[in-house]
Amino acid sequence: MAKHKTHYEDCDVLVVGGGMAGTGATFEARHWGRDMKIICVEKANIDRSGAVAQGLYAINCYMGMQWGENQPEDHVRYARNDLMGMVREDLGYDMARHVDSTVHMFDEWGLPMMKNEETGRYLREGKWQIMIHGESYKPIVAEAAKKSADKIYNRIMITHLLMDESQENRVGGAVGFNMRTGDFHVFRAKAVIVAAGGASHIFKPRAVGEGMGRTWYAPWSNGSAYALPIAAGAKMTQMENRIVLCRFKDGYGPVGAYFLHLKTYTQNANGENYEKKWYDQTKELVGEYIDHHPTPTCLRNHAFIQETMAGGGPIHMVTTEAFQDPHLETVGWENFLGMTVGQAVVWASQNIDPKYTNPELTTSEPYVMGSHATCSGAWVSGPEDLSPPEYFWGYNRMLTIDGLFGAGDTVGGSAHKFSSGSFTEGRLAAKAAVKYIEDKKAEGLKISDNQCEDFKIKVYKPLETYTVAQNEITGGTVSPSYISPIQGLQRLQRIMDEYVGGIATNYMTNANMLKRGLELLAWLEEDLEKVGAEDYHQLMRAWELKHRALTSQCVTEHTMFREETRWPGYYYRGDHMKLDDDNWHCLTVSRRDPKTGKFSMEKVPVYHIVDENEKKKAS
Ligand SMILES: Cc1cc2nc3c(=O)[nH]c(=O)nc-3n(C[C@H](O)[C@H](O)[C@H](O)COP(=O)(O)OP(=O)(O)OC[C@H]3O[C@@H](n4cnc5c(N)ncnc54)[C@H](O)[C@@H]3O)c2cc1C
Repeated sequence: MAKHKTHYEDCDVLVVGGGMAGTGATFEARHWGRDMKIICVEKANIDRSGAVAQGLYAINCYMGMQWGENQPEDHVRYARNDLMGMVREDLGYDMARHVDSTVHMFDEWGLPMMKNEETGRYLREGKWQIMIHGESYKPIVAEAAKKSADKIYNRIMITHLLMDESQENRVGGAVGFNMRTGDFHVFRAKAVIVAAGGASHIFKPRAVGEGMGRTWYAPWSNGSAYALPIAAGAKMTQMENRIVLCRFKDGYGPVGAYFLHLKTYTQNANGENYEKKWYDQTKELVGEYIDHHPTPTCLRNHAFIQETMAGGGPIHMVTTEAFQDPHLETVGWENFLGMTVGQAVVWASQNIDPKYTNPELTTSEPYVMGSHATCSGAWVSGPEDLSPPEYFWGYNRMLTIDGLFGAGDTVGGSAHKFSSGSFTEGRLAAKAAVKYIEDKKAEGLKISDNQCEDFKIKVYKPLETYTVAQNEITGGTVSPSYISPIQGLQRLQRIMDEYVGGIATNYMTNANMLKRGLELLAWLEEDLEKVGAEDYHQLMRAWELKHRALTSQCVTEHTMFREETRWPGYYYRGDHMKLDDDNWHCLTVSRRDPKTGKFSMEKVPVYHIVDENEKKKAS
């Protein structure tokens, strides 16, 4: 262990992850905490890290309140509808009422925004989306964070949270290692904001073997945002609410601009509108939710999946009409150049010119995230002025561990935040974290050297395992005494895929499959004690895998607990195929006991704050 130098850093606010939420948090922490020491730690390099690394073509969450386009209430209604009722409306409203100010800052900082030539307003792609030339989106927000932080640490993966030893259930910082130098880093902090993104690659992806990096969600998002708080005993919510995306096949190119701006539409292989065909069947499952406008995303997926299973595939996007307009054709291509160049390459390689050939669509493997169209993540306190008592415990966006805050994909219950809303939520979390410190809630923290040393031994164990066990290899790379990170990852993905509702079963699962899945995940956890890493990069892979495995356990426990099919099209409980509002119109909340590793589950009421007040007033 002596070989790995330990660096200590004491700070006020520690931000884990410098993506959209992390840069927002770092920026805002400086605004409120002028004299505070603010540190941001990032696994990659914040100039090009996270889901926005490659850039975006649209900011998907902008109210346009200055022009009376939308109000926060409208956004809450929209998110509630899309999630089949299951959202934290206090969190959604809070984000929506602040998101415009975030976007206006992006504009001031030089992000090229497209304008409507007639009105001078931001150019709308849809009701909530505005269009940008967004290749430089991430470096721009990174610059704001760099100017705000005392220090940004790049290339450090945070593996564990430190817990205060003087007061139970209070965070005291985090530890991790530098993937280039191999050094161990201890960050002792009064408040920690986890903003480490969502989780890809926990379910087996459609593209395997040499194509396995090709996923919709960023392949480097490994669920640390969930695993770090779960391991420390924080409560999580809606972890069953995984997302499945309908995207252009093989390149995962986005379809939003195509539907909303180019007005393209989908059809089955016979040129039929297949969605209509599945109306009655869907109504049987979910009742009146199918009549909502817009149709909830999962229900559109459902029609796609049913049609494909019934032999109506492949499903195509009809582009050949829109692409006859040279302007729309340009928009269609530029849409990929801003964020998914690979889709254009796939089409070129398959001889698809969307002007003459309608490209194929597919549904993705599931991902876990809290900022896009689903809302898995940590159970957090809402804002003082909006949240009912069960949703409020002192500081906005604080988890159920004192001093531990979350933002972006980390936070559960508040879907449809996207890039701008995640940055906004980072700002909200940072403001509250500074207040927590100013209120002297972090006094007397005790982090012993023993705690740090114990973590250090754990963190480097995969290197030790490899060093010792490699001598037992008699041929090839297979060792009798360790598994490699890629072997462990593939095993995890198969368990999740085959038992927890992945593509292998057309997103179908049931209690028996989930029970078996949990058994296999428990054995995997045991075996991950024997994961071996030959270098620092593989050490990162080992820890990414451990975080993915813990996230997967939580997802499986939640999926087992909710005995209904709330979101057909995201996954199906074959033993409870119908949506069941009588018993399950509620949020699910879990906690893993850090000592025993056992999860406990509870139902928490979902409060419909928007419209309920109006209803009450009217009655
Ligand atoms: C394919 C795709 C397309 C999208 N399109 C749009 C769009 O068009 N418009 C829009 O507004 N939004 C879009 N979004 C949503 C938007 O990208 C996310 O909402 C937003 O990035 C979430 O912010 P975040 O900070 O939670 O996560 P991220 O931005 O992903 O940041 C997480 C950060 O944490 C770091 N990290 C992870 N683990 C660790 C660790 N253990 N230690 C240290 N650092 C760590 C990561 O490297 C990363 O930098 C899209 C997302 C995806 C995946």
